Amino acid sequence: MNGTEGCLACDLAAGRLPLPGGRIHETARWIVEHCVGPLGVGALLVKPARHVTSVGELSDDETAELGPLLRAAARVVDELCGPEQVYVGLWSHAGRRRVHIHFVVQPATTEAIESLGDYGPALQTKMFERAQLPPPDEVQLFADRAREMFRESRPTRGTT
Ligand SMILES: [Zn+2]
Repeated sequence: MNGTEGCLACDLAAGRLPLPGGRIHETARWIVEHCVGPLGVGALLVKPARHVTSVGELSDDETAELGPLLRAAARVVDELCGPEQVYVGLWSHAGRRRVHIHFVVQPATTEAIESLGDYGPALQTKMFERAQLPPPDEVQLFADRAREMFRESRPTRGTT
């Protein structure tokens, strides 16, 4: 893989940094991992394999794969976490610089909402403020189950 060194997303994808849970799923052009930030167990991260720093710079092929993959990721999070809602967001703006784009597919669980007293964007803000990383053993367990679900849900090309 041609990763850009010094880019967190590329470094994680290339194995230059430890990734709890390992790679969960990949398509020809996208990678799914567990989020390494403090967004709880079950927060998935969907990013292009290529170093792309704007949604507007995605290729046609990358764009075509994105919709089905986000849907599959949201279904996995729904099934495994049973959240009130699955949040899907993308900021990819670090230090006010564009960074490797990554969609976060996050379970907004009743447990997280009640412990932090907020939901919506404020839930994410408070989770980042709390800065509590998910336990690696729970991430591993979730990743193993998610990997299996992605494998089973892989759509067959050419069918509806
Ligand atoms: Zn990158």
